[in-house]
Amino acid sequence: MKKPLIVQKFGGTSVGSVENIQKVAKHIIEAKDDGNQVLVVVSAMAGETNRLVDLAQQIDSVPNARELDVLLSAGEQISMALLAMTLNKLGYAARSLTGGQAKIVTDEKHNNATIEDIDTQGIRTLLDQEQIVIVAGFQGVNRNGDITTLGRGGSDTTAVTLAGYLGARECQIFTDVDGIYTCDPKIVHQAKKLSTIDFLSMEEMAKRGAKVLHLPSVKYAQKHNVPLRVLSTFKNSSKGSFVTGQQAPDGICGIALQDEMQLIEIDSTLIASLLAQCHMLGIAIWNTIESKNTTQFVVKYADYIKLKLTLSEKEHTASLVNLITVVGSMKEVSEDKIRAILSENGVKIIFYTLNIRSFTVAIRPEEVDKVANILHDIYIDSAVVIER
Ligand code: ADP
Ligand code: ASP
Ligand code: MG
Repeated sequence: MKKPLIVQKFGGTSVGSVENIQKVAKHIIEAKDDGNQVLVVVSAMAGETNRLVDLAQQIDSVPNARELDVLLSAGEQISMALLAMTLNKLGYAARSLTGGQAKIVTDEKHNNATIEDIDTQGIRTLLDQEQIVIVAGFQGVNRNGDITTLGRGGSDTTAVTLAGYLGARECQIFTDVDGIYTCDPKIVHQAKKLSTIDFLSMEEMAKRGAKVLHLPSVKYAQKHNVPLRVLSTFKNSSKGSFVTGQQAPDGICGIALQDEMQLIEIDSTLIASLLAQCHMLGIAIWNTIESKNTTQFVVKYADYIKLKLTLSEKEHTASLVNLITVVGSMKEVSEDKIRAILSENGVKIIFYTLNIRSFTVAIRPEEVDKVANILHDIYIDSAVVIER
Protein backbone atom coordinates (compact mmCIF):
# COMPACT_ATOMS: atom_id res chain seq x y z
CA MET A 1 0.00 0.00 0.00
CA LYS A 2 1.20 3.51 -0.83
CA LYS A 3 2.44 5.49 2.13
CA PRO A 4 0.64 8.72 3.05
CA LEU A 5 2.40 11.98 2.27
CA ILE A 6 3.01 14.75 4.79
CA VAL A 7 4.19 18.18 3.63
CA GLN A 8 6.13 20.15 6.25
CA LYS A 9 7.14 23.79 5.77
CA PHE A 10 9.73 25.46 8.00
CA GLY A 11 9.95 29.25 8.18
CA GLY A 12 12.92 31.56 8.56
CA THR A 13 13.44 31.29 12.32
CA SER A 14 13.05 27.51 12.17
CA VAL A 15 16.00 27.25 9.75
CA GLY A 16 17.73 30.33 11.18
CA SER A 17 20.84 28.54 12.48
CA VAL A 18 22.60 25.19 12.15
CA GLU A 19 21.36 24.38 15.65
CA ASN A 20 17.74 25.07 14.67
CA ILE A 21 18.13 23.06 11.47
CA GLN A 22 18.88 20.05 13.71
CA LYS A 23 15.50 20.64 15.42
CA VAL A 24 13.82 20.84 12.02
CA ALA A 25 15.46 17.54 11.03
CA LYS A 26 13.95 15.88 14.11
CA HIS A 27 10.39 16.76 13.02
CA ILE A 28 11.08 15.46 9.53
CA ILE A 29 12.62 12.22 10.79
CA GLU A 30 9.72 11.68 13.16
CA ALA A 31 7.23 11.95 10.27
CA LYS A 32 9.38 9.70 8.09
CA ASP A 33 9.85 7.07 10.82
CA ASP A 34 6.07 7.10 11.36
CA GLY A 35 5.75 5.56 7.90
CA ASN A 36 5.03 8.65 5.80
CA GLN A 37 6.54 10.01 2.64
CA VAL A 38 7.83 13.47 3.54
CA LEU A 39 8.15 16.56 1.38
CA VAL A 40 9.70 19.59 3.03
CA VAL A 41 9.52 23.25 1.99
CA VAL A 42 11.99 25.72 3.48
CA SER A 43 12.23 29.49 3.75
CA ALA A 44 15.45 31.47 3.74
CA MET A 45 17.28 31.66 7.08
CA ALA A 46 15.81 34.42 9.33
CA GLY A 47 16.86 37.87 8.12
CA GLU A 48 18.42 36.56 4.90
CA THR A 49 15.75 37.81 2.46
CA ASN A 50 15.85 41.26 4.08
CA ARG A 51 19.63 41.26 3.83
CA LEU A 52 19.44 40.46 0.11
CA VAL A 53 16.78 43.14 -0.48
CA ASP A 54 18.96 45.63 1.32
CA LEU A 55 22.01 44.72 -0.80
CA ALA A 56 19.98 45.21 -3.97
CA GLN A 57 18.64 48.55 -2.77
CA GLN A 58 22.14 49.80 -2.08
CA ILE A 59 22.55 49.55 -5.85
CA ASP A 60 19.10 50.76 -6.92
CA SER A 61 16.11 51.80 -4.77
CA VAL A 62 13.89 49.95 -7.24
CA PRO A 63 16.05 47.08 -8.52
CA ASN A 64 15.36 45.32 -11.79
CA ALA A 65 12.53 42.92 -10.93
CA ARG A 66 13.94 39.92 -12.80
CA GLU A 67 17.37 40.25 -11.22
CA LEU A 68 15.84 40.77 -7.78
CA ASP A 69 14.12 37.39 -8.14
CA VAL A 70 17.41 35.75 -9.10
CA LEU A 71 18.97 37.25 -5.98
CA LEU A 72 16.15 36.52 -3.51
CA SER A 73 15.69 32.93 -4.63
CA ALA A 74 19.24 32.25 -3.40
CA GLY A 75 18.11 32.61 0.24
CA GLU A 76 15.90 29.53 0.14
CA GLN A 77 18.58 27.56 -1.72
CA ILE A 78 21.00 28.00 1.17
CA SER A 79 18.46 26.55 3.62
CA MET A 80 17.51 23.61 1.44
CA ALA A 81 21.10 22.50 0.96
CA LEU A 82 21.97 22.84 4.67
CA LEU A 83 18.89 20.83 5.62
CA ALA A 84 19.62 18.09 3.05
CA MET A 85 23.21 17.83 4.38
CA THR A 86 21.88 17.58 7.94
CA LEU A 87 19.49 14.76 7.04
CA ASN A 88 22.16 12.94 5.06
CA LYS A 89 24.52 13.15 8.01
CA LEU A 90 21.81 11.64 10.22
CA GLY A 91 21.50 8.71 7.82
CA TYR A 92 18.41 9.77 5.85
CA ALA A 93 18.34 10.09 2.07
CA ALA A 94 17.32 13.63 1.17
CA ARG A 95 17.36 15.61 -2.06
CA SER A 96 17.02 19.38 -2.35
CA LEU A 97 15.31 21.01 -5.33
CA THR A 98 15.01 24.63 -6.42
CA GLY A 99 11.56 25.82 -7.53
CA GLY A 100 12.61 25.28 -11.15
CA GLN A 101 13.94 21.77 -10.45
CA ALA A 102 10.66 21.01 -8.67
CA LYS A 103 8.91 22.08 -11.92
CA ILE A 104 6.93 24.85 -10.26
CA VAL A 105 5.70 27.05 -13.11
CA THR A 106 4.39 30.53 -12.38
CA ASP A 107 3.00 33.46 -14.30
CA GLU A 108 5.28 36.27 -15.47
CA LYS A 109 4.82 38.63 -12.52
CA HIS A 110 8.32 39.02 -11.08
CA ASN A 111 8.43 39.60 -7.29
CA ASN A 112 4.78 38.62 -6.87
CA ALA A 113 4.17 35.62 -9.08
CA THR A 114 1.35 33.09 -8.88
CA ILE A 115 1.88 29.35 -9.28
CA GLU A 116 0.15 28.14 -12.45
CA ASP A 117 1.24 24.53 -12.64
CA ILE A 118 3.48 21.91 -11.04
CA ASP A 119 4.65 18.82 -12.88
CA THR A 120 5.01 16.50 -9.90
CA GLN A 121 6.36 13.44 -11.71
CA GLY A 122 9.98 13.97 -10.66
CA ILE A 123 9.04 14.65 -7.05
CA ARG A 124 6.82 11.55 -6.93
CA THR A 125 9.64 9.38 -8.25
CA LEU A 126 12.01 10.66 -5.55
CA LEU A 127 9.37 10.15 -2.82
CA ASP A 128 8.72 6.60 -4.05
CA GLN A 129 12.48 5.98 -3.83
CA GLU A 130 12.13 6.83 -0.09
CA GLN A 131 13.95 10.14 -0.46
CA ILE A 132 12.98 13.09 1.70
CA VAL A 133 12.37 15.82 -0.88
CA ILE A 134 13.25 19.38 0.14
CA VAL A 135 11.90 22.17 -2.06
CA ALA A 136 13.01 25.79 -1.88
CA GLY A 137 9.95 27.86 -0.93
CA PHE A 138 8.87 31.19 -2.41
CA GLN A 139 10.12 30.52 -5.95
CA GLY A 140 9.30 29.05 -9.33
CA VAL A 141 10.11 29.69 -12.96
CA ASN A 142 7.96 31.35 -15.58
CA ARG A 143 7.27 29.89 -19.03
CA ASN A 144 10.54 31.47 -20.31
CA GLY A 145 12.51 29.64 -17.62
CA ASP A 146 13.23 32.84 -15.67
CA ILE A 147 13.22 32.60 -11.88
CA THR A 148 10.21 34.23 -10.19
CA THR A 149 9.30 34.73 -6.53
CA LEU A 150 5.85 34.58 -4.95
CA GLY A 151 5.80 37.70 -2.76
CA ARG A 152 7.04 38.05 0.82
CA GLY A 153 5.95 35.13 2.98
CA GLY A 154 5.40 33.02 -0.16
CA SER A 155 6.93 29.76 1.11
CA ASP A 156 3.61 28.93 2.78
CA THR A 157 2.04 29.03 -0.67
CA THR A 158 4.72 26.74 -2.13
CA ALA A 159 3.99 24.21 0.62
CA VAL A 160 0.20 24.32 0.41
CA THR A 161 0.20 24.17 -3.41
CA LEU A 162 2.58 21.19 -3.46
CA ALA A 163 0.39 19.51 -0.82
CA GLY A 164 -2.63 20.08 -3.07
CA TYR A 165 -0.96 18.76 -6.23
CA LEU A 166 0.43 15.71 -4.44
CA GLY A 167 -2.74 14.92 -2.44
CA ALA A 168 -0.90 15.18 0.91
CA ARG A 169 -2.62 13.96 4.05
CA GLU A 170 -1.71 17.22 5.79
CA CYS A 171 0.27 20.39 5.14
CA GLN A 172 2.05 21.41 8.34
CA ILE A 173 3.34 24.99 8.56
CA PHE A 174 6.01 24.98 11.26
CA THR A 175 6.90 28.41 12.63
CA ASP A 176 8.12 30.28 15.71
CA VAL A 177 4.68 30.43 17.42
CA ASP A 178 2.60 27.39 18.32
CA GLY A 179 -0.47 28.20 16.27
CA ILE A 180 -2.89 30.83 15.03
CA TYR A 181 -3.82 33.31 17.75
CA THR A 182 -6.55 35.92 18.14
CA CYS A 183 -3.83 38.52 17.52
CA ASP A 184 -0.06 38.49 16.97
CA PRO A 185 1.06 36.99 20.32
CA LYS A 186 4.30 38.98 20.15
CA ILE A 187 2.26 42.21 20.42
CA VAL A 188 -0.75 41.10 22.47
CA HIS A 189 0.48 38.74 25.17
CA GLN A 190 -3.10 37.90 26.19
CA ALA A 191 -3.89 36.63 22.68
CA LYS A 192 -5.60 33.25 22.71
CA LYS A 193 -4.56 30.28 20.62
CA LEU A 194 -7.28 28.94 18.36
CA SER A 195 -7.28 25.14 18.09
CA THR A 196 -9.32 25.55 14.89
CA ILE A 197 -10.21 28.48 12.68
CA ASP A 198 -12.51 28.49 9.64
CA PHE A 199 -11.19 29.44 6.21
CA LEU A 200 -13.19 32.67 5.83
CA SER A 201 -11.93 34.07 9.12
CA MET A 202 -8.35 32.99 8.40
CA GLU A 203 -8.52 34.52 4.94
CA GLU A 204 -9.72 37.84 6.32
CA MET A 205 -7.04 37.75 9.05
CA ALA A 206 -4.30 37.05 6.46
CA LYS A 207 -5.66 39.71 4.09
CA ARG A 208 -5.53 42.29 6.88
CA GLY A 209 -1.96 41.50 7.89
CA ALA A 210 -1.80 38.35 10.06
CA LYS A 211 1.39 37.12 8.44
CA VAL A 212 1.30 33.72 10.16
CA LEU A 213 -0.09 32.44 6.82
CA HIS A 214 0.52 33.94 3.35
CA LEU A 215 -2.89 34.93 1.94
CA PRO A 216 -2.66 32.88 -1.32
CA SER A 217 -1.85 29.76 0.73
CA VAL A 218 -5.13 30.12 2.64
CA LYS A 219 -7.10 30.68 -0.56
CA TYR A 220 -5.48 27.68 -2.24
CA ALA A 221 -6.06 25.38 0.74
CA GLN A 222 -9.71 26.38 0.89
CA LYS A 223 -10.30 25.88 -2.82
CA HIS A 224 -8.51 22.54 -3.02
CA ASN A 225 -9.40 21.11 0.40
CA VAL A 226 -5.83 20.93 1.67
CA PRO A 227 -5.74 19.99 5.38
CA LEU A 228 -3.72 22.87 6.80
CA ARG A 229 -2.13 23.09 10.24
CA VAL A 230 0.12 25.74 11.84
CA LEU A 231 2.42 24.55 14.60
CA SER A 232 5.66 25.28 16.41
CA THR A 233 9.10 24.00 15.49
CA PHE A 234 10.28 24.60 19.03
CA LYS A 235 7.36 23.53 21.25
CA ASN A 236 6.74 19.84 20.73
CA SER A 237 3.69 19.34 22.92
CA SER A 238 1.25 21.48 20.93
CA LYS A 239 -0.94 20.23 18.07
CA GLY A 240 -1.10 23.82 16.83
CA SER A 241 -4.08 25.25 14.97
CA PHE A 242 -6.06 23.55 12.23
CA VAL A 243 -7.71 25.60 9.49
CA THR A 244 -11.03 23.97 8.67
CA GLY A 245 -14.67 24.69 7.90
CA GLN A 246 -16.32 26.93 5.34
CA GLN A 247 -18.72 28.63 7.75
CA ALA A 248 -17.58 31.72 9.66
CA PRO A 249 -19.18 31.78 13.10
CA ASP A 250 -20.79 34.88 14.58
CA GLY A 251 -18.64 37.14 16.69
CA ILE A 252 -15.14 38.53 16.42
CA CYS A 253 -12.41 36.03 15.55
CA GLY A 254 -9.35 38.22 15.93
CA ILE A 255 -7.38 41.41 15.45
CA ALA A 256 -4.96 41.68 12.51
CA LEU A 257 -2.04 44.09 12.34
CA GLN A 258 -0.49 45.50 9.18
CA ASP A 259 2.70 47.52 9.47
CA GLU A 260 4.82 49.39 6.93
CA MET A 261 1.94 51.10 5.14
CA GLN A 262 2.22 54.52 3.55
CA LEU A 263 -0.53 57.13 3.57
CA ILE A 264 -0.20 59.37 0.52
CA GLU A 265 -2.15 62.58 0.23
CA ILE A 266 -2.56 64.20 -3.20
CA ASP A 267 -4.57 66.94 -4.80
CA SER A 268 -7.82 65.40 -6.09
CA THR A 269 -7.03 66.59 -9.62
CA LEU A 270 -4.12 64.11 -9.70
CA ILE A 271 -6.12 61.00 -8.81
CA ALA A 272 -6.47 59.71 -12.36
CA SER A 273 -2.73 59.85 -13.01
CA LEU A 274 -1.90 58.20 -9.66
CA LEU A 275 -4.37 55.39 -10.34
CA ALA A 276 -2.86 54.87 -13.78
CA GLN A 277 0.65 54.65 -12.25
CA CYS A 278 -0.55 52.13 -9.67
CA HIS A 279 -2.18 50.04 -12.36
CA MET A 280 0.94 50.10 -14.54
CA LEU A 281 3.25 49.17 -11.66
CA GLY A 282 0.87 46.48 -10.31
CA ILE A 283 0.46 48.35 -7.02
CA ALA A 284 -2.53 47.49 -4.85
CA ILE A 285 -4.34 50.38 -3.15
CA TRP A 286 -5.49 49.31 0.30
CA ASN A 287 -7.70 52.25 1.20
CA THR A 288 -8.90 55.47 -0.41
CA ILE A 289 -10.12 58.37 1.74
CA GLU A 290 -11.63 61.30 -0.07
CA SER A 291 -12.04 64.76 1.38
CA LYS A 292 -12.86 68.14 -0.18
CA ASN A 293 -9.82 68.96 -2.32
CA THR A 294 -7.46 66.13 -1.53
CA THR A 295 -7.54 62.35 -1.58
CA GLN A 296 -5.55 59.96 0.60
CA PHE A 297 -4.38 56.53 -0.53
CA VAL A 298 -2.83 53.73 1.46
CA VAL A 299 -0.28 51.47 -0.21
CA LYS A 300 2.45 49.21 1.10
CA TYR A 301 5.63 51.12 1.92
CA ALA A 302 7.58 48.95 -0.53
CA ASP A 303 5.17 49.98 -3.29
CA TYR A 304 5.42 53.64 -2.31
CA ILE A 305 9.16 53.51 -3.04
CA LYS A 306 8.30 52.62 -6.65
CA LEU A 307 5.48 55.16 -6.88
CA LYS A 308 7.65 57.92 -5.44
CA LEU A 309 9.79 57.90 -8.56
CA THR A 310 6.81 59.14 -10.54
CA LEU A 311 5.35 61.58 -7.96
CA SER A 312 6.96 64.93 -7.44
CA GLU A 313 7.59 66.13 -3.85
CA LYS A 314 5.34 69.13 -4.48
CA GLU A 315 2.41 66.98 -5.51
CA HIS A 316 2.05 64.87 -2.42
CA THR A 317 2.74 64.33 1.27
CA ALA A 318 3.33 60.91 2.76
CA SER A 319 3.53 59.33 6.20
CA LEU A 320 3.92 55.83 7.60
CA VAL A 321 0.84 54.34 9.22
CA ASN A 322 -0.20 51.02 10.72
CA LEU A 323 -3.55 49.42 10.12
CA ILE A 324 -5.32 47.52 12.88
CA THR A 325 -8.34 45.48 11.88
CA VAL A 326 -11.01 43.86 13.99
CA VAL A 327 -12.02 40.75 12.02
CA GLY A 328 -15.35 38.93 12.28
CA SER A 329 -19.04 39.62 12.01
CA MET A 330 -19.50 43.33 12.59
CA LYS A 331 -22.78 43.07 14.52
CA GLU A 332 -21.18 43.89 17.84
CA VAL A 333 -18.72 46.46 16.53
CA SER A 334 -19.64 50.07 17.11
CA GLU A 335 -17.59 52.74 15.35
CA ASP A 336 -18.61 55.28 17.97
CA LYS A 337 -17.46 53.03 20.80
CA ILE A 338 -14.06 52.41 19.19
CA ARG A 339 -13.54 56.09 18.49
CA ALA A 340 -14.57 57.07 22.01
CA ILE A 341 -12.32 54.50 23.71
CA LEU A 342 -9.30 55.27 21.54
CA SER A 343 -9.67 59.00 22.03
CA GLU A 344 -10.04 58.50 25.81
CA ASN A 345 -6.66 56.74 25.59
CA GLY A 346 -5.12 59.63 23.68
CA VAL A 347 -4.88 57.75 20.36
CA LYS A 348 -5.26 59.73 17.17
CA ILE A 349 -7.27 57.79 14.57
CA ILE A 350 -5.95 58.85 11.18
CA PHE A 351 -8.93 57.24 9.44
CA TYR A 352 -11.13 54.18 9.79
CA THR A 353 -13.06 51.99 7.37
CA LEU A 354 -15.86 49.50 7.89
CA ASN A 355 -16.21 46.43 5.63
CA ILE A 356 -18.50 43.41 5.74
CA ARG A 357 -16.21 41.32 7.95
CA SER A 358 -13.75 43.89 9.26
CA PHE A 359 -13.27 47.28 10.85
CA THR A 360 -9.91 48.95 10.24
CA VAL A 361 -8.33 51.88 12.04
CA ALA A 362 -5.20 53.60 10.78
CA ILE A 363 -2.92 54.90 13.50
CA ARG A 364 0.66 56.11 13.98
CA PRO A 365 3.12 53.18 14.04
CA GLU A 366 4.27 53.94 17.60
CA GLU A 367 0.73 53.33 18.91
CA VAL A 368 0.28 49.80 17.59
CA ASP A 369 0.96 47.91 20.82
CA LYS A 370 -1.37 50.12 22.80
CA VAL A 371 -4.24 50.06 20.29
CA ALA A 372 -3.95 46.31 19.57
CA ASN A 373 -4.16 45.56 23.29
CA ILE A 374 -7.10 47.92 23.84
CA LEU A 375 -9.12 46.44 20.96
CA HIS A 376 -8.21 42.89 22.00
CA ASP A 377 -9.39 43.64 25.53
CA ILE A 378 -12.73 44.90 24.26
CA TYR A 379 -13.52 42.40 21.55
CA ILE A 380 -11.72 39.20 22.49
CA ASP A 381 -11.00 39.12 26.21
CA SER A 382 -14.52 40.16 27.11
CA ALA A 383 -16.12 37.77 24.58
CA VAL A 384 -17.71 34.69 26.06
CA VAL A 385 -17.12 32.24 23.22
CA ILE A 386 -13.92 32.29 21.26
CA GLU A 387 -12.07 28.99 21.46
CA ARG A 388 -13.82 26.77 18.94
P1 ADP B 1 7.87 32.12 9.26
O1 ADP B 1 9.21 32.73 9.05
O2 ADP B 1 7.90 30.87 10.07
O3 ADP B 1 7.07 32.00 7.99
P2 ADP B 1 6.36 34.51 9.91
O4 ADP B 1 7.11 35.58 10.62
O5 ADP B 1 6.07 34.68 8.48
O6 ADP B 1 7.09 33.13 10.22
O7 ADP B 1 4.94 34.24 10.64
C1 ADP B 1 4.90 33.90 12.00
C2 ADP B 1 4.67 35.17 12.81
O8 ADP B 1 3.38 35.68 12.51
C3 ADP B 1 4.63 34.97 14.31
O9 ADP B 1 5.93 35.00 14.86
C4 ADP B 1 3.78 36.15 14.78
O10 ADP B 1 4.59 37.21 15.23
C5 ADP B 1 3.07 36.61 13.52
N1 ADP B 1 1.61 36.67 13.65
C6 ADP B 1 0.84 37.70 13.23
N2 ADP B 1 -0.44 37.47 13.48
C7 ADP B 1 -0.52 36.26 14.06
C8 ADP B 1 -1.60 35.47 14.56
N3 ADP B 1 -2.85 35.89 14.48
N4 ADP B 1 -1.31 34.27 15.10
C9 ADP B 1 -0.04 33.83 15.18
N5 ADP B 1 1.02 34.54 14.74
C10 ADP B 1 0.80 35.74 14.18
N1 ASP C 1 12.07 34.21 2.45
C1 ASP C 1 10.87 34.84 1.96
C2 ASP C 1 10.51 36.04 2.82
O1 ASP C 1 11.23 36.35 3.75
C3 ASP C 1 9.73 33.88 1.83
C4 ASP C 1 9.22 33.29 3.13
O2 ASP C 1 9.84 33.42 4.18
O3 ASP C 1 8.15 32.65 3.08
O4 ASP C 1 9.54 36.69 2.55
MG1 MG D 1 5.92 33.36 6.89
